[in-house]
Amino acid sequence: GDLWEFDPAPESASPHIADRYQLFIGGKHVAPKSKKYFDSISPRDGKKLSSIPQAGKADVDAAFAAAKKAFTTWSQLPGAERGKYLFRIARLLQDRSREFAVAETLDGGKPIKESRDFDLPMAAAHFFYHAGWADKLEYAAPGRTLKPLGVIGQIIPWNFPMLMLAWKIAPALATGNTVVIKPAETTSVTALKFATILEQAGLPPGVVNIISGDGETGKLIVDHPDAAKIAFTGSTEVGKLIQKSLAGSGKKLTLELGGKAANIVFDDAPIDQAVEGVINGIFFNQGHVCCAGSRLLVQESIAEEFTARLKRRLAVLRVGDPLDKNTDVGAINSAEQLAKIKEHVQSGVDEGADMHQPACKLPKNGYYFAPTLFTGVAQSHRIANEEIFGPVLSILTFRTPEEAIEKANNTPFGLSAGIWTDKGSKILSMASKLKAGVVWANTYNQFDPSSPFGGYKQSGFGREGGKHGLLDYASLV
Ligand code: NAD
Repeated sequence: GDLWEFDPAPESASPHIADRYQLFIGGKHVAPKSKKYFDSISPRDGKKLSSIPQAGKADVDAAFAAAKKAFTTWSQLPGAERGKYLFRIARLLQDRSREFAVAETLDGGKPIKESRDFDLPMAAAHFFYHAGWADKLEYAAPGRTLKPLGVIGQIIPWNFPMLMLAWKIAPALATGNTVVIKPAETTSVTALKFATILEQAGLPPGVVNIISGDGETGKLIVDHPDAAKIAFTGSTEVGKLIQKSLAGSGKKLTLELGGKAANIVFDDAPIDQAVEGVINGIFFNQGHVCCAGSRLLVQESIAEEFTARLKRRLAVLRVGDPLDKNTDVGAINSAEQLAKIKEHVQSGVDEGADMHQPACKLPKNGYYFAPTLFTGVAQSHRIANEEIFGPVLSILTFRTPEEAIEKANNTPFGLSAGIWTDKGSKILSMASKLKAGVVWANTYNQFDPSSPFGGYKQSGFGREGGKHGLLDYASLV
């Protein structure tokens, strides 16, 4: 039949969260052979949301076998046919975006206005963008032919569950690969729900296999002999382990890891805009963002006034129930992450920085943390060096552009940076000296599927999005 003919589900805001999910292997929802399940807790109230299967070795083997079998036909399909499936997935994500946004917020704790206005629309946009590439691959590398790699093992984190899933699956499928993907253990619900979108889209069985589980399941994917490539997004610590374990294996690898981005504000910056940008840069998604602007470098001449402005802005941020449409800062993803944030904040206090939190009433149940600023931060402090992955901003100052560059680059990471100034020439000269994969100017956290995203140094290698991201899923002949 015509691939364009399909019946989208009626729009629904009901999250339809099952009491128990199953693995999605070879187009079927199957119970784990391991017989093990673990609880998914909603950080909104600390209560159990659903049971999630823990894939063991037999399950991972079954997923790879299904993906390997599907590769034979999927990789031979004309690009336009593959593109139609990706378009259908994108349209279905739009049709069911409210349902998925509510589920995403319940499962992960992010404010509903973010899952509704950012995560879901961006996930759909990513499928649309790659649908467009599927029949135009010859333009990605003129004069060369792109060959799919085979079965891709993909492992994603918990901060943008649906969006990371889209970033992984869309380019892999557009280039003719098949996939075994694992969501993070605290946010598996929307990934397992996504299987129903693949069914609605009529995607051939085995092209995408979704298996949940913890780091042990992740290791089984990484070490699976049938994985042609591993695409990992997560912590630098785990990224290093994966790189070591793949050494000499011949498998391709891309790593999207942590960050400690500097947001650099000059005294000639548009100040209202810069205040909003710095606030958004660190408090978007509770700071659970790899490119979070977690270090503010503000020019000394305006540091005092700028910090006072930030404090006033902090006082009116709405912190609390992520399902409330007015909430700015929602729930911390897990009890474990909340403990890590508290430990980091305590280290800042112990090392002598000055902590500021607004007076805000946090919900009694669930995992919440007040937006936090630190002044009096030295470069040697842990809060100035380590990724906190929470709503915590460290404020440092600088006098000259050279000093700003030196401080911004003084980190093992290199994912992103922001510059705020009204001088175009300053933006260009700073951007060329910042060792960061993405540099925003007079804005922050802007994403587009056509712009490659990725890091320098310990923030990883490889790109996602754009032509560069596509090429990371193909071999050129
Ligand atoms: P994590 O490294 O703990 O986990 C990420 C994923 O890896 C999870 O699915 C986990 O189950 C799996 N995993 C854990 N141990 C494994 C192992 N030994 N082998 C294989 N897989 C394993 O990271 P997290 O806490 O889920 O996510 C937060 C981190 O992700 C932050 O450091 C953040 O900066 C980073 N991140 C980076 C980007 C980017 O694009 N650069 C995007 C989002 C998040």
